[in-house]
Amino acid sequence: MNFELTEEQQDIQDAAGAFLQGELDKDKVLQLEKEHAFPRELLTKAGKLGFMGIHFPEAYGGQGYGIMENILVVEEFCRNDSGVGIALSLADFSSELILKFGSEEQKKKYLPPICRGEMMSAGAYTEPDHGSDITTLGTTAVKDGDDYVINGTKTFITNGSMADVVVVLCQTDPKATPGYRGQSTLIVEKGAPGLEALEIAPKMGIHMTSTAELSFNSVRVPANRLLGVENKGFYQVLNFFDESRIEIAAQALGIAQGVFDRALSYTTTREQFGKKISDFQVTRHKLADMATRIDAARLLVYRAAWHCDQGRVDSKLTSMAKMFAGRVAVEAADEAIQMHGGYGYITEYEVERFYRDAKITEIYEGTREIQKNRIASALLAKSI
Ligand SMILES: Cc1cc2nc3c(=O)[nH]c(=O)nc-3n(C[C@H](O)[C@H](O)[C@H](O)COP(=O)(O)OP(=O)(O)OC[C@H]3O[C@@H](n4cnc5c(N)ncnc54)[C@H](O)[C@@H]3O)c2cc1C
Repeated sequence: MNFELTEEQQDIQDAAGAFLQGELDKDKVLQLEKEHAFPRELLTKAGKLGFMGIHFPEAYGGQGYGIMENILVVEEFCRNDSGVGIALSLADFSSELILKFGSEEQKKKYLPPICRGEMMSAGAYTEPDHGSDITTLGTTAVKDGDDYVINGTKTFITNGSMADVVVVLCQTDPKATPGYRGQSTLIVEKGAPGLEALEIAPKMGIHMTSTAELSFNSVRVPANRLLGVENKGFYQVLNFFDESRIEIAAQALGIAQGVFDRALSYTTTREQFGKKISDFQVTRHKLADMATRIDAARLLVYRAAWHCDQGRVDSKLTSMAKMFAGRVAVEAADEAIQMHGGYGYITEYEVERFYRDAKITEIYEGTREIQKNRIASALLAKSI
């Protein structure tokens, strides 16, 4: 057993941190946040430097590293800035489904520009009436000649109004019992006739990302945009979530570390009653609790990533990492605001934004309760 990062992993982590520190200007970040604007320029730069799709094979524009290296980049990005970090982390959302299940032609077409940071992707699973439960869907894809025709509505889609490609989970066999045995994933390109995106705003946090409702009104998609095998879409998405939820856990971990850094810096400089805030035992205990919980979260997240890279994806570990790291992030951010006093409530001090951004890690890609259900099912050796 070895708890050290390799020298190469350490270099990647340092490079990711140095990149954002070099690029981030506080005024620019606050402007993006205020305008709810996606950090396009940073995405292009991150793509050029190889941070996007770092875990994709070189043949498709990636760097050939594993999930672990991707996790390190995401953690470091979110530690430096929760808003920019999450926006960059999700810019290629669901493209792993193309890597895992796409044809050679699909991979060659979409993955290199995504890795270069020139294209953005999205994944559309949630519907207005089907959120935690996507075992049956209202969105249908019906075969018509050489095309599929999609009808329905997807909601809360990250990058929804910006993405160049969207992986859409549809019901292709409405008679399948249970319903999830009749679902398929299709790649839909931006601008497809009949596809409309309506931004859902305002929202609590992650203001630099788009969250949209997507309406599909007889959207025609060539049959060669089907991912993998028809009616296997639900299983593909579950397989994808087992990896991608570790990335969400890494967002949470980075946010937790980021608020801890800021709380430590603030409490060791701010004085009251003639003492540094960090001299009060209550503060010291808070810092100790935060650091311990963050380290525990880190061990879970890295372990889940390590398992993936060993080819032994473990959905129980993934869910544990996401559930635990999400809670740690929200609680650490809450405590960091408290330790900043009134300043913590003010935007300029950043921790209030980290707090708002942390909360989503307990909701998207399966809520805290759904992770708990998945852990319990694994413990009780049940599977869906
Ligand atoms: C900002 C944002 C970005 C998102 N991005 C995407 C995206 O890119 N693509 C996408 O497809 N979706 C996305 N989502 C949707 C997200 O994944 C869902 O909101 C989430 O899965 C919960 O679904 P729901 O909102 O319908 O809540 P519901 O499923 O209605 O749940 C409501 C509450 O009931 C609980 N609950 C439900 N079922 C159970 C159960 N069996 N046991 C115990 N408790 C239960 C939930 O945990 C929750 O607390 C995003 C959401 C947001 C807010």
